[in-house]
Amino acid sequence: MKNLIFRNGDKLPILGLGTWKSKPGEVRQAVYWAIEAGYRHIDCAAIYQNEREVGQGIADAMSDGLVKRKELFVTSKLWNDSHRYEDVKPALEKTLSDLRLDVLDLYLVHWPIAFKSGVGFATHREEFYTYNDVPLSQTWEAMQEQKTSGLVKHIGVSNFNQKKLKEILDFGGEAPEMNQIELHPFLPQQNLVKFCTENGILLTAYSPLGSPDSRSDRHKNDPSLLENPTVAELAQKHGVSVGQILIAWSIARGIAVIPKSVNQGRIIDNLKAADLQLDQSDMDALAKIGVAHRFVDGSFFTGPQSPYKLADLWDS
Ligand code: NAP
Repeated sequence: MKNLIFRNGDKLPILGLGTWKSKPGEVRQAVYWAIEAGYRHIDCAAIYQNEREVGQGIADAMSDGLVKRKELFVTSKLWNDSHRYEDVKPALEKTLSDLRLDVLDLYLVHWPIAFKSGVGFATHREEFYTYNDVPLSQTWEAMQEQKTSGLVKHIGVSNFNQKKLKEILDFGGEAPEMNQIELHPFLPQQNLVKFCTENGILLTAYSPLGSPDSRSDRHKNDPSLLENPTVAELAQKHGVSVGQILIAWSIARGIAVIPKSVNQGRIIDNLKAADLQLDQSDMDALAKIGVAHRFVDGSFFTGPQSPYKLADLWDS
């Protein structure tokens, strides 16, 4: 499988397994199946509330001799309630303990939004911190220290637009090594991708299949990537599944991609996208798909009592 290369030469397998919404009762098995199938990159986060079970799946695979720790790349993310300098290390240590790991390969600031300690999803004004209360520089300083101390190998961010990335770059410390953002043919984000590439920041595409299992009733009329006729035509042309076309689209752009599945057949099917080559005419057809849509729109952080606006998240 193709790898992305960090500034120090470390490798990130371009295709990994997503674990958001994977229920604790199913994710241990899903992680095991994924490693057995050949995945070597697992994407996790404290807020997914399943890191203990992900850790069990990894431990099962290692004890059965399927993989060695050094062959696996494990990412996790700092939740919004741990942005204060003094909260970053304890949050990381909890994740490491849940995942049963000594070191994390990549740790990301999950969102550029801060809640008070212990708040899962803030709704009331008093549950939020503002950028004045907890500046991003404070969180980023603590992230850099986790790397220096050796608890994580690489550090980065997620859901950061150009303005927020520039803020971090302007601090003058280590630049983020990764930005994990929503990317698929309905949301190619060319400008942000170009900015990251020009600044040596690698990218990971989340919700590559359009996150069909995260639709609330409010979003039930969202367009479907998996049922899009252009994607279906390309799947037919290549004799592959629509999921493989969508995953291969990110790989063709040199962007890591982390489809989530807890189904053994789909876990295996999705991995085959690593061997699928889309040609320029395929990419052109997907560029002209004619639908623009962000599935994870961040509106859950920008309600009436929030100090944050959608403009704090997205460039447009
Ligand atoms: P996704 O990967 O786009 O879609 C997952 C859904 O697609 C599940 O319902 C899954 O069902 C189904 N599926 C998987 N493979 C399929 C296939 N080949 N054909 C048809 N359906 C298929 O959605 P996502 O979970 O939102 O995004 C992927 C990962 O990105 C997450 O799990 C998480 O690790 C990460 N993420 C990060 C952020 C962030 O803020 N940084 C935000 C969102 C996501 P089954 O499980 O039943 O197969």
